[in-house]
Amino acid sequence: MKFSNLLIKWYLQNKRELPWRNTTNPYPIWLSEIMLQQTRVAQGTPYFLSFTTAFPTVFDLAEASEEQVLKLWQGLGYYSRARNLHKTAQYVASDLGGIFPDKYIDLLKLKGIGEYTAAAIASFSYNEAVPVVDGNVFRVLSRYFDIETDITLASAKKEFAALAFELMPKDNPAIFNQAIMEFGALQCVPKSPNCGICVFNESCAALQKNKVDQLPLKSKKLKVRNRYFNYLVFADEVENTIIQKRTGKGIWHNLYEFPLIETEKEEDWDYVNKHVQDEYCKGNTNASIYEYSAKSILHKLSHQHLHIKFWNVQVPETLKNGIDIETLRSFPFPIVIHNFIEKELQSF
Ligand code: SF4
Repeated sequence: MKFSNLLIKWYLQNKRELPWRNTTNPYPIWLSEIMLQQTRVAQGTPYFLSFTTAFPTVFDLAEASEEQVLKLWQGLGYYSRARNLHKTAQYVASDLGGIFPDKYIDLLKLKGIGEYTAAAIASFSYNEAVPVVDGNVFRVLSRYFDIETDITLASAKKEFAALAFELMPKDNPAIFNQAIMEFGALQCVPKSPNCGICVFNESCAALQKNKVDQLPLKSKKLKVRNRYFNYLVFADEVENTIIQKRTGKGIWHNLYEFPLIETEKEEDWDYVNKHVQDEYCKGNTNASIYEYSAKSILHKLSHQHLHIKFWNVQVPETLKNGIDIETLRSFPFPIVIHNFIEKELQSF
């Protein structure tokens, strides 16, 4: 049986029932595809459900404030996705009358929509014969056909897209794209796939050559940068604290955080105390400082490891722009700060 027939047969018998699957409406398909980039289905699904409940149409999402969108996105990471999602919703609602473009090439012009997402929407919503190429597709095809192309090279995408296009039944590209992604997610998984039960175990080249764990080939190793964050959780005499918005480029753009001292290495109480007295108190007040936990929290992002400490800073005065704990909770924070607030801050 042909590769695509076997793959689609497997899909129809094994696919998961997911809330964005039984529709051709590009709005939920677009939402789900953006949410599932770099994110597991189990983690992304509750976000998809809360977004479609809060914003049932692209007009509802367009009308929301960026803070509402970021608050709902809180915990999903890669926050530029949420900001782009919001901007694209506004563009689709106001400039396109709420109707998503129906061609791959036009979808690509929307903010935050790359080749993969454009292909997913074009095929799932409009049945355009354009293949999706993501990590799952690289893995499945490189193993099945024993392709030793380095998938981190820009040219790899073209090569795999051409192969997927050749394999795809042109009268039903949507099901082929869904099937190959699902097969990579459930059966041909990155580590130790269960090849013994695989529908392709008689024809898979990597299995026959005992190369399953060597494919796909990836050369570049990501260089991880270590950063050391000390967050100052101020508390004044009326139990208020202060926060700031991250407006610079880089991680967590437009999310909120406590005042931050970033250091080259992990610092101790003496360092933080001196910094607070010099920078914040300027000799006027005596702040009393303690760390919430002696051990820093390790928060891993794709290219960065953040070592985070939270310091309680009590000041005997009333802070300018101070907010209480309930107001604090209404702001969008990176998940690591949100978790700290929920765990440690019943009051200041
Ligand atoms: S036999 Fe193993 S490596 Fe080959 S396609 Fe199936 S799960 Fe993947």
